Amino acid sequence: MTRRKEPAPVPVPEVAAATAAAAAAFLAGQEITTTECRRCGTQVSGVNGRYACICGWVNDWSEGHTILPTADQDVDA
Ligand SMILES: [Zn+2]
Repeated sequence: MTRRKEPAPVPVPEVAAATAAAAAAFLAGQEITTTECRRCGTQVSGVNGRYACICGWVNDWSEGHTILPTADQDVDA
């Protein structure tokens, strides 16, 4: 039996590594959840309990399973 050699790790610039780590941490906190639209009954998927249906229904932000970030935490603002 022959073993394939592991590919050599590609050097990643520090900034890209930090961005990737931040993205991974963000994604780790996201959970895909599913519910039934309260207007039309279609099964809709959302993130952390927040949903938007094609019929226009959205649930209230306060029904989400996680706390939303504040404006102070928005790095793009
Ligand atoms: Zn709907």
